[in-house]
Amino acid sequence: MPQDPKQGFSTIAVHAGQTGESSTLSRGVPVYRTASYLFRDSQHASSLFSLKESGNIYTRLMNPTTDVLEKRMAALEEGVGALAFASGTNAIFSTIINMLESGDEVLSAGNLYGGTFTMFNNILPQFGLKARFFDYDDPESAEKLINARTRVIHIETVGNPMLGIPDFEKIAAVANKFHVPLVVDSTFTTPYLFKPLLHGADIVVHSLTKWIGGHGAALGGVVVDGGTFDWTDPKFRLFNEPDSSYNGLRFAHDLGELQQAAFIVRLRLAPLRNLGGCISPDNSWLFIQGLETLALRMERHCSNALCVAEFLKKHPRTEWLRYPGLSSDSSYLMAKKFFRNAMGGGVVVFGLKGGPAEAERFISRLQLFSHVANVGDAKSLAIHPASTTHSQLSSEEQSSSGLPPDLVRLSIGIEDVDDILRDLEQALAGAD
Ligand code: PLP
Repeated sequence: MPQDPKQGFSTIAVHAGQTGESSTLSRGVPVYRTASYLFRDSQHASSLFSLKESGNIYTRLMNPTTDVLEKRMAALEEGVGALAFASGTNAIFSTIINMLESGDEVLSAGNLYGGTFTMFNNILPQFGLKARFFDYDDPESAEKLINARTRVIHIETVGNPMLGIPDFEKIAAVANKFHVPLVVDSTFTTPYLFKPLLHGADIVVHSLTKWIGGHGAALGGVVVDGGTFDWTDPKFRLFNEPDSSYNGLRFAHDLGELQQAAFIVRLRLAPLRNLGGCISPDNSWLFIQGLETLALRMERHCSNALCVAEFLKKHPRTEWLRYPGLSSDSSYLMAKKFFRNAMGGGVVVFGLKGGPAEAERFISRLQLFSHVANVGDAKSLAIHPASTTHSQLSSEEQSSSGLPPDLVRLSIGIEDVDDILRDLEQALAGAD
């Protein structure tokens, strides 16, 4: 990714990936709303399909608007390439099946977004894949679960919803020791707070739907390849055996100048091309707009969230509270070690005196906060995960993924913090 190493985060977030549009001189990134692209002649068409020449073929595979988003995300994460998907969920699933075959295993931290847990625990077995879960706070528990079929370690930067932060470097050391890639879901941090590739991750995934989009307006996901993992290890057969669906190409060996980005090249040419989880160009455009103000919004999300955490921590109706940006929080040391200025992100979770029933009543009394199943919007949001986002998990699974039944999740928006606090105060004041 050619990029001026002196440029700061916000400059890259505003400029990277846009090279100028030669025919119209459009300053903004145009939305290329097209399914296909003209071939100049038959020779051009066959060169594109045989990868002798790079260029656009069909929007399921690539799109010039999406290309700007992908290049910008790769630049912000300091990776060698990126690939966008229709959702964060699809980005995670495509990442897994890009390297695992039937019989292989995923080793994941257990403190996961409920949808990812279900994907690993319930959907992957349909394809002969198995997931094992370790305690994010105990890298040795990961090591104990590794076996000859483990092919990937997966963690979230800030577990959803209990906000636990792993020691990335210790987990990366385990991945290194057993030569498996470390995949980090950095949705809750965004590259503004944390760049996993600089701390031992090999691949980063994001739900773009959250803080990167920032306005709750579109679904999307992205995978960024650090270019660090050596795919020539024969246990990764999909990278080493000739691919019969792609002219016998061996992805770990035959890519020439694209070799370092083997993971992302295969991700595009196999899962994306053949399973079709592509992002719409309109959504790519929305995420490009989101990236341009990401730094400003993350600062505000984090400073507002810290005020909310301090307010709720002192409130007599609060039973317990977690926010990694509070120096008293058990994840603070990790936030301080890894995240920009020890910022704790935009989510605060807490339990109210009165338990789950009171949690639901509290949410219904909120007025400024919206009761929705989302995080990362400019607007403040609230939800009771045990009865909603994580309700597909059994109560045993909820408790093993560390989800208390009374937990209220607040995604703190960028409104004036006094208005946010006033709404919380009136909703708490109505408590029985
Ligand atoms: N990863 C995390 C940490 C999430 O919180 C979510 C959704 O909440 C996802 C992935 C899935 O993203 P999407 O909703 O874009 O599919």
